[in-house]
Amino acid sequence: MFDEIMPNRLDRGFEKYQEEIEAAALRVLRSGWYVLGPEVSAFEEAFARYTGSGYCVGLASGLDALWLAFRVLGIGSGDEVIVQGNTYIASVMGITINGATPVLVEPDEFYNIDADKIEEKITEKTKAILVVHLYGQASNMDKIVNLCRKYDLRLVEDCAQSHGAAAGGKVTGTFGDIGCFSFYPSKNLGAFGDAGAIVTDNEEYARAMRMYRNYGSEKRYYNKVVGANSRLDELQAAMLRVRLAHMEEITAERREIAARYTELLHNGKLILPAVREGVTHVWHQYVIRTDCRRELIAYLEERGIGTIIHYPVPPHLSEAYGYLGYRKGDLEITEKYADTVLSLPMYNGMTREEQMRVIRCLNEF
Ligand SMILES: *Cc1c(COP(=O)(O)O)cnc(C)c1O
Repeated sequence: MFDEIMPNRLDRGFEKYQEEIEAAALRVLRSGWYVLGPEVSAFEEAFARYTGSGYCVGLASGLDALWLAFRVLGIGSGDEVIVQGNTYIASVMGITINGATPVLVEPDEFYNIDADKIEEKITEKTKAILVVHLYGQASNMDKIVNLCRKYDLRLVEDCAQSHGAAAGGKVTGTFGDIGCFSFYPSKNLGAFGDAGAIVTDNEEYARAMRMYRNYGSEKRYYNKVVGANSRLDELQAAMLRVRLAHMEEITAERREIAARYTELLHNGKLILPAVREGVTHVWHQYVIRTDCRRELIAYLEERGIGTIIHYPVPPHLSEAYGYLGYRKGDLEITEKYADTVLSLPMYNGMTREEQMRVIRCLNEF
């Protein structure tokens, strides 16, 4: 019998920096200061530096980063936001929570928005493009940035999966008005609970975001706008600081695992992920495609190997977004991807032995 190989192992990522993480957590527990204190400020400073942004504002989650970004930009009811069809549903919720309408565009072969299909979707109501750097690969930013300039659109980036990925040497999250990050435990930079942040070069946006995350107040008990409770807490910030300091290593390890898959997988039934010229990939997921997905999942399962589908139901076909009125067949490429993608086991601390077993099984399939 084999030990099971799971699609993700968060314990491995913890063990690697266990001592440092535990020391940081203890420091906060003993400090008596738990919300919006020195650890959050220090993390915000470090993450702004990491992305090369003027400002970072820590928040409670990636979804909050998205919805508050559109809130700060004044995008809401009656406005349209362009976003790719094949994304995690949170990207779309960040738009619709504000009352704005998502306009869905098909993806390219790299699973990011097809920049050539955006212009035809722009109307007088279009206010912004939300770019999702899905699976960790930076999108085709030159074209998108030009479209935003041409039509005076705001540009928001969903970087929940792309910490440190770059296009043309520029880090994702810094191309537009606001970059939105999640530090959910399974993300490349993961906390030990929910956490998120935005980055921006615009001082006004950063200031507004700090207000919105704290009930719409700058001065305690004097509320200027109807805000949220979306504060990053000290404990998460302290532990994130540890991981952020090791981010180069964390990303390098994921790249090494991805490179080994790409080098050693040889099976005509599998379509391996490709990387666009001029961009980098930080491999939040290693996503293959196959027309025999059901059989492959069962085959791997019998051999103790777990996989995940990111994502089986595209937002436009989800029950939640039935009201948008999309039908099956409206987004053919998005739907084809939803029916054929499969994420292979990929995590920091994955051993070479574990990966070789996955590769052998996939080649035998
Ligand atoms: C995880 C994720 C989010 C949401 O982040 P949370 O911190 O879970 O709210 C948004 N968009 C994408 C693409 C994600 O992967």
